[in-house]
Amino acid sequence: MKRMLTSLAWLTMGLLTLSGCGEEKETTATAEAAPQQTYEWKMVTTWPRNYPGLGMAPENFAKAVNEMSGGRLKVKVHGAGELVPAMGVFDAVARGAVEVGHGAAYYWKGKSPAAQFFTAVPFGLNVQEMNGWLHYGGGMELWRETYAPFNLVPFAGGSTGVQMAGWFKKEINSVEDLKGLKMRIPGLAGEVFQRLGGVPVTLPGGELFTALQTGSIDATEWVGPYNDLTFGLYKAADYYYYPGWHEPGAMLEFIINKEAWESLPPDLQAIVTYATRAINQDMLDEYTARNNTALKELVEKHGVQLRKLPDDVVDALRVASEQVIQETIAEDEMAKKVYDSFKTFRDNVMPYTAISEEAFLKIREGK
Ligand code: CA
Repeated sequence: MKRMLTSLAWLTMGLLTLSGCGEEKETTATAEAAPQQTYEWKMVTTWPRNYPGLGMAPENFAKAVNEMSGGRLKVKVHGAGELVPAMGVFDAVARGAVEVGHGAAYYWKGKSPAAQFFTAVPFGLNVQEMNGWLHYGGGMELWRETYAPFNLVPFAGGSTGVQMAGWFKKEINSVEDLKGLKMRIPGLAGEVFQRLGGVPVTLPGGELFTALQTGSIDATEWVGPYNDLTFGLYKAADYYYYPGWHEPGAMLEFIINKEAWESLPPDLQAIVTYATRAINQDMLDEYTARNNTALKELVEKHGVQLRKLPDDVVDALRVASEQVIQETIAEDEMAKKVYDSFKTFRDNVMPYTAISEEAFLKIREGK
C-alpha cells in the first residue's frame, strides 16, 4: 500500500511536470513567434573614447551586452565631449537624454555628498573589501538609495586597485611642502589636501597633461602606472609618489536611467547586471597584469623618480581625513547613513585582512 502510494505520488508528479512542460512549450512557441523588441542605448563616459584601462570599461560593457543579448540590446559608446562634456554625464543620464553612463561617483559630490563614499574614501577599503561591502555588505543598496532621487540606478563599474599618490614637480619632504600646492585631486581627498594647505582642483582626465605641463597645476593624481604612462604625465613632472592613501580601491560606476532600466525585460536586465559584474572584475585583472611593467618603463626608460610619501605626511593626511569625513557626514544625512555602513564594514573586515592578505604579503616578502 505504501509502495503504491509512493508510485501514485511519482505518477502525479510526473503528470504535473508533463503538463507543466506542455504549457512551457506553448509559451516558448508564442514567444518565438512574436518579434523580439530590440533596444538601442546611448552611453556617455567621463573618459576619452577607447582610453586604455578605466576608459575601456564602457567599450567592453557595450561589447558584452551586444554579444550576450544577440543584438537585442545595442549600446553605442560616446566618449567625453562627443555628446556631453565629461562632467555632464550624471545629468545627461539622469534626465534621460542618454540611457547609460560610465564615470566615478565622487565627481558628483555636488549632487550628493554621499556619492563620494562609493568611489574612494581616504584610508578606506581596498578593492576586495570594497567589492565585498558593495555586493555583500549592504553598500549597493545604499548606493541605489543615494541615486534614487536622481532617477539613476548605479552599478559597480570597475576598480583600479590601490592608486598612486600622484605626480609632483617637486619633492615632498614634509607637510610644509604641500602648502599652496595646486593639485588635481577630487572627492574627499581633495578636501583633506586643502586641510593641509594645498589647493585642490577637479579636472577630467583628458585635461590633466596640459594642465600639468603648462603649470596651471603643480601636481596631479590620476590612476597608476599603466594609465599614467599612457597620458604621458612623466613628461610634465619628475616625481611619482606612492602609496595611494586617497584612493585605496577606487571604484568606478555604471549609471543607468531608471525608466530605461525598468523598460528592459528581466532577461536583458540580467544581462546588463552580469555584464557590469564581469567588467568590474576584468578591469582589475588588466591593471594587475599591466601596472608592474608600466612602472618599470616609467622608471627605467623615462627616468621617473619614484618616491614614498614620508611617514609624517601620511600621518597628517590620516588625521585630516578623519576630520573631513566627520564634517562631511555631520552635514548630510545620507552621507552619514552611507559612512556608518562603510565604517562598520571596515572595522569588521580589517582584523581578517590583517591575518590573511596582509600577513601573507609579509611572509611572501620574507618579512
Ligand atoms: Ca584617481
